[in-house]
Amino acid sequence: MNAPNRGLNHFLAEAKPSATYKMIDRVAALRARGQQIISLTAGEPDFDTPAHVRQAAIQAIEAGKTRYTQVAGLRELREAVAAKFKRENGLEVTWQQTIVCSGGKQVLYNALSATLNVGDEVIIPAPYWVSYPEMVQLTGATAVIVPCNEADGFKLTAQALAAAISPHTRWLILNSPSNPTGAVYSTSELVALADVLLANPKVLVLSDDIYEHLTFDGVPFHTIAQVEPRLRERTLTMNGVSKAYAMTGWRIGFGTGPSWLLEAMETLQGQQTSGASSISQHAALAALSGPQEFVQEARKVFQRRRDRVVTRINAIEGLRCSSPAGAFYAFVACESLIGKTTTAGTLLQNDEDVALALLDEHGVATVHGSAFGLGPYLRLAYALDDDSLDMACNAIENFCNSLCNAV
Ligand code: PLP
Repeated sequence: MNAPNRGLNHFLAEAKPSATYKMIDRVAALRARGQQIISLTAGEPDFDTPAHVRQAAIQAIEAGKTRYTQVAGLRELREAVAAKFKRENGLEVTWQQTIVCSGGKQVLYNALSATLNVGDEVIIPAPYWVSYPEMVQLTGATAVIVPCNEADGFKLTAQALAAAISPHTRWLILNSPSNPTGAVYSTSELVALADVLLANPKVLVLSDDIYEHLTFDGVPFHTIAQVEPRLRERTLTMNGVSKAYAMTGWRIGFGTGPSWLLEAMETLQGQQTSGASSISQHAALAALSGPQEFVQEARKVFQRRRDRVVTRINAIEGLRCSSPAGAFYAFVACESLIGKTTTAGTLLQNDEDVALALLDEHGVATVHGSAFGLGPYLRLAYALDDDSLDMACNAIENFCNSLCNAV
């Protein structure tokens, strides 16, 4: 029987809660029962926010900078954001061409809800970050999911993009480095996509660059507005401090794009949050304009962890994982496990069954690939210390070795 309609907004009633948060809640429930769990679910660095950033926030509190700020963000922070876009992305923008929101997530949500109507379509390459389709759903528009397979490095090809565009297409969402695959688009891949977009002038581009600073082995990062300046007038380039400066809880994201869009986002934000936390904005200012060594150090640590995890996973019979060029996720193919039975008697029919059995029976939490639009895979976030990662890999190996063929 359907759940009773309690008068929810229709679009919200159809939206799914985040699969990542669902898994995190399950981990919390198991831990509350006293079970030892190693969680590879959370999309956040395990480091402390850099000391000078924390200090800037304390100083802001002590100096009484605790009042409302301008809706689109403190001018000093917007200047630092503009300087960041120039320094790191070659985007010449003024501070007025930027916006600061409560997390990168709110930049995305503001942009989508400011522009989408029922009947509009948003192209989302899969595997995708879990929130994109749900954000689109909340606006009443339609997410057009374009599958990107492993052979293409989980990346959208120009042909697939061209085939997905319709007269209703409003946005294309790009995310590089990607959550959940860690895939990074090269300049030539972005140029190929840009050529298709130039031929379709009505399509807006949302470039989610939140993992910009986490690319490995010298793989360079490029954002589409930099690669093809003719797309600037219809691209929202979005970023934030969460992943680069270990500041997930501070909730500061920012973006640059066409003025008409930023103004609409500001209007929305003005009626919604009135702007991001003043203390967090001062902290983000210190992060963007202070010493940048932390970013490079974090990158080195994640690259080492990636190598550790990918090597271990590929040595496990039944699992396969290519070495991701960025972010802090490994996207592990687990099709060989489907159809097997665990020692507790659970038949693994899909990747969600695999993730749940691995958690319940071996104490390792992951998120199933189909939650990101492509199964059967498991997403492993390797934002944990080496010992925990080794223990998790040992448990995953034991789990795989203990599976039996179903009779
Ligand atoms: N975009 C992607 C791809 C993410 O993975 C995340 C966070 O997990 C975000 C955006 C949102 O980041 P923030 O913490 O700044 O809201």
